[in-house]
Amino acid sequence: MAKAFSEFGFDDRVMEGIQTMGYETATPVQEQVIPLILEGRDILASAQTGTGKTAAFLLPLMQRLLQEPHEEHHINALIIAPTRELAIQIDQNLQGISYFSSISSIAVYGGNDGGSFDQEKKALSQGADIVICTPGRMISHINLGYVKLQHLHYLILDEADRMLDMGFYPDLMRIIKNTPEKKQVLMFSATMPKLIAQMARQILKDPAEVNISISRPPDKIRQRAYVIYEQQKAGLILHILKEHKDLKSILIFCSRKTSVKDLTRDLKREKLNADQIHSDLEQDQRADVLNRFASRRLQILVATDILSRGIDIDNIELVINYDVPHDGEDYVHRIGRTARAENDGEAITLISPMEQRKFGSIERLIDKVVEKMPVPADLGEAPEYRPEQRSESGHRKPGGKGNNRNQRRRPRGDKNDKRGRS
Ligand code: AMP
Repeated sequence: MAKAFSEFGFDDRVMEGIQTMGYETATPVQEQVIPLILEGRDILASAQTGTGKTAAFLLPLMQRLLQEPHEEHHINALIIAPTRELAIQIDQNLQGISYFSSISSIAVYGGNDGGSFDQEKKALSQGADIVICTPGRMISHINLGYVKLQHLHYLILDEADRMLDMGFYPDLMRIIKNTPEKKQVLMFSATMPKLIAQMARQILKDPAEVNISISRPPDKIRQRAYVIYEQQKAGLILHILKEHKDLKSILIFCSRKTSVKDLTRDLKREKLNADQIHSDLEQDQRADVLNRFASRRLQILVATDILSRGIDIDNIELVINYDVPHDGEDYVHRIGRTARAENDGEAITLISPMEQRKFGSIERLIDKVVEKMPVPADLGEAPEYRPEQRSESGHRKPGGKGNNRNQRRRPRGDKNDKRGRS
């Protein structure tokens, strides 16, 4: 039986915020984490986006800020997130639930113009109850000397594993060095690799550990895959899109920016309602694309892994993996964009010969053999699925329609363009 929010003893202003957001009962991560935060414990929580983790730390944080005396002109709580998109999402969530309280907050994730830097600078110099930031941007401000972190009471690291993946460890440690010894630290991470455990030992004191992670996709997602040659992929995508032409929201993941750009160009050439998102776009452009996609004016969004976590767009009906994600967790994150809330979803992965072993290990991780679909005859002969064998060349020329995408090497994840996305 899910717990009602009234059982946490929240202030009326927090309860009103919860009502504004339309939350009725606490999610499992909220049920576990909220009482521990209210007790003042440090937390190490493994919970993915979509579990309600943002409200799990924002609600008790607000409660504590409202109830306990705190410094007016200093930063009381600092929330650090890996990307602008996630920081914006936390900020929006906070604005909703703090609507009825006097909690002040600033978001420091940067626009590209000087104006937003100056605004952030002014706000940081004056202090605020809660600051939400990305690491790189915060360091730029800290370097200029006006950031007042010496009275910080609460530090929250969201998607800590992602931040380490993106190379933010030194920035994080530099920010933390500027904070007082005595503070409550909450660390959220989708996965718990060794480095996270190490970092947790450095910065958390006697943390309560909470584990809500699901390393398997929900059963309601229909997972399928096509075993094909690399150069058949673009043709197959067109075929899949034709088959699903009545869907309103289709998200296609590629591991590399260049693949995103090429594929988007191909789809537009076919007069499909498609657009792209990746780290080369300006913040305004990204926001515009996301907006059109969320409001369903844009049917097909082609994205790098920038979107696989932390983005809250409901009702995506189909996720297509143009290539096999780097590891099982990324796979779960990518396909988890579909089947949010009450809806069923569908995920289709394209597996080239070079990617078969990797997909095999993903199937082991999720403990499921994903259904392999017959490749349409007009695309020519397709390879066999033999994931236990060493990868052979992915570039055998098939008969039928191919395209020029056979030159692409399979990237190792999207590591090269991760830095600087904040
Ligand atoms: P998050 O994991 O924080 O990204 O949250 C995923 C989605 O769940 C967001 O749209 C939240 O607004 C929503 N959410 C968070 N807590 C609850 C709750 N207790 N009941 C219903 N929805 C919630």
